[in-house]
Amino acid sequence: MQAHLVTLPGDYIGPEIIAQAVKVLEAVARRYGHRFTFDERKLGGASIDAFGVPLTEETLAACNAADAVLMGSVGGPKWDDVEPARRPEKGLLALRKGMGVFANLRPCTIHPQLAGACPLRADIIAKPIDIMILRELTGDIYFGKRWRAEDRKAATDEMAYSEMEVERLARIGFEMAKKRRGKLCSVDKANVLECSRLWRETVQRLAAQYPEVEVTYMYVDNAAMQLILRPSQFDVMITGNLFGDILSDESAAIAGSLGMMPSASLGSGTRGLYEPIHGSAPDIAGKDIANPLGTILSGALLLRHSLGLDAEAAAIERAVSGVLDEGYRTADIAAPGTKTVGCIAMGDLVAARI
Ligand code: NAD
Repeated sequence: MQAHLVTLPGDYIGPEIIAQAVKVLEAVARRYGHRFTFDERKLGGASIDAFGVPLTEETLAACNAADAVLMGSVGGPKWDDVEPARRPEKGLLALRKGMGVFANLRPCTIHPQLAGACPLRADIIAKPIDIMILRELTGDIYFGKRWRAEDRKAATDEMAYSEMEVERLARIGFEMAKKRRGKLCSVDKANVLECSRLWRETVQRLAAQYPEVEVTYMYVDNAAMQLILRPSQFDVMITGNLFGDILSDESAAIAGSLGMMPSASLGSGTRGLYEPIHGSAPDIAGKDIANPLGTILSGALLLRHSLGLDAEAAAIERAVSGVLDEGYRTADIAAPGTKTVGCIAMGDLVAARI
């Protein structure tokens, strides 16, 4: 197949990790007979330096014309004094909005080779953990009205959801559960919040259209606890923006290593935005020690969710697993007895296994 991809390396370690993901995607293209074209654009601080703004209209238009977008990470101390409206992170928010992506996917798996980095007890992670958290990205308390009393001693943030916003997110969750282990857990606070009652009623209505999916409902306080006590019970989890923000970071802590975690942001079509969950790591930039695996695995999500290339996505995931099996680690995940390699060498090892 032919696919046109935009890459947005961003700042600090961004270009280093994106180069490795591109290398691996090129290896996939060669191995499976595809043609991927890459259009590299600037985002965040790099765009501020070049054009004065963190995201230009041309870059957004290029992203919206691509089959998918792969991003590194943005921001860092160099732009700390930039006025709030033009900060690097604003470019990322504008990009998500401009691309119309509303579902944030965060897979949480524990690579058995890195189980030592997981803070949970060995008996809790003895059963395989493979969770897909879907967080709604464009609604909820983050986008409601805000109010602060004149005397500054009281404040309100409004939580708002529409049926349409819940339904489009939940549909992605049901479709995903169908292709995975057929289980979906909807997380809310329906015992207290009206938004959550709307959320639950909408999911219940949709559930009738997906009889093959086993649906459970869980209050968010319990879900936070269950993720720690019995994470293996979850397959797909769907939840709102605020609860998802918290639960997805909790799940990242379970997986144990920031540098390993991919993410995807999807809209109603197949075009998506793919990025590792970590930031631009200014403290290690330019030293060839960043872990590129979160970005490489984001490339696998891109193949699966935007291009429909399941076998190729699985090939990347197997290659990463194989390299870890051989004992290779970047510095952030190194342990006694493993072989420490740099960012470029790690990219080479994964590409070679494709
Ligand atoms: P960070 O994720 O950049 O770094 C936290 C720690 O993890 C650092 O010690 C760093 O060296 C390490 N780390 C992160 N990614 C790594 C990798 N791939 N390999 C090895 N080690 C890795 O978070 P921070 O320091 O709080 O933020 C730095 C900058 O990144 C800030 O400007 C922040 O706003 C920005 N940020 C951007 C994004 C994004 O682009 N989506 C997300 C989070 C933070």
